Amino acid sequence: MADIVAILVVIGITVLYLYNQYEEEKAMEEFRRKSRNYSLTCRKCGELAEPIVGTKNRYRCHNCGRQFAGPCHPL
Ligand SMILES: [Zn+2]
Repeated sequence: MADIVAILVVIGITVLYLYNQYEEEKAMEEFRRKSRNYSLTCRKCGELAEPIVGTKNRYRCHNCGRQFAGPCHPL
């Protein structure tokens, strides 16, 4: 009987873990989507500059690393 309980606990933990991974992946995807939506073009090199989280209106270029202020973003 104790074995069955142990197995059920392990299964429960595994399911929770997988569900967490799934939720995290979903949140990451949502974040990437938002990040893309609010990205600007870098004026120095023309590559994509993504919003910097927690800065309201700062952006950083993927390619050259240039940081600049732009329109407000929600990230
Ligand atoms: Zn750049």
